Amino acid sequence: MLWIGCHVSFDKDRQLVKSTEEAISYGANTFMFYTGAPQNTNRSKISKEKTLDAHQLMRQHHIDLDKVIVHAPYIINLANRDNLDFGIHFLTEELNRCSQLGVSYLVLHPGSHVGQGVEQGLQNIIDGLNTVFLNDHNEVKILLESMAGKGSELGKNFQELKTILDGVKENNRLGVCLDTCHLNDAGYKIAEFDQVLTEFDQLIGIDKIGCIHINDSKNPIGAHKDRHENIGFGTISFEHLLSIIYHPQLENIPKILETPYVDREFPPYREEIMMIKERKFDPELLEKIRSINQK
Ligand code: FE
Ligand code: FE
Ligand code: ZN
Repeated sequence: MLWIGCHVSFDKDRQLVKSTEEAISYGANTFMFYTGAPQNTNRSKISKEKTLDAHQLMRQHHIDLDKVIVHAPYIINLANRDNLDFGIHFLTEELNRCSQLGVSYLVLHPGSHVGQGVEQGLQNIIDGLNTVFLNDHNEVKILLESMAGKGSELGKNFQELKTILDGVKENNRLGVCLDTCHLNDAGYKIAEFDQVLTEFDQLIGIDKIGCIHINDSKNPIGAHKDRHENIGFGTISFEHLLSIIYHPQLENIPKILETPYVDREFPPYREEIMMIKERKFDPELLEKIRSINQK
């Protein structure tokens, strides 16, 4: 079965109910959200009542709570020694919020070493995660996202992700989130995805993949840029993204779109999800989204 959704919002008043309604409006059966603004750490208290209302709404609309994902804010950088205590503290709170929301997976950018070097950066991440898991005893898993390698980002190749997984004691609580734009920008050939997946399987194991971000890329392979493009309108192509979305070995893994709003204004998700379900690229899609929204 295809589990397809996208990034949705979460607000302090209606919380998970708001996110669920937005996902339903796009025809999604899973979704991903930040528990507050991704660039800051202001977080409101999770309401039990709203959470239960949202769970009921999900059941009515065939959204599987087990496939719903939280994304940790980018300001957490476990790779930076100077900021490690803050990251550990916030990540521990974030795992608690996930648990209160009934969400099982938290996607995390491994971090940027900011001049401390790859080896030291990876070690900082390992130390940070070991401390987090020492303090925190709920069941929520952290999925390390594969990164484009912009600046000093770590997790830009499978070997770096493996180094982190190997270094963390409770690595049964760790998995990986692949991002197609990031893989492309990091230099992996999405056009030959079976080879990429085999390489991943030999190093880490397909069973470690907990989520896949489906994005096209504005930049050529190996550019180390990380600029997402709408599905089929970038350098990866619709056909190659579809081969991942419908890959038989990735069937039960939630696929999440993080494509840009058209003209920075109109969410593309309803139309992109429909196009994915129909498996046919529509070159007029962005025009259609503009005209639907401008009416
Ligand atoms: Fe991300
Ligand atoms: Fe992503
Ligand atoms: Zn990205």
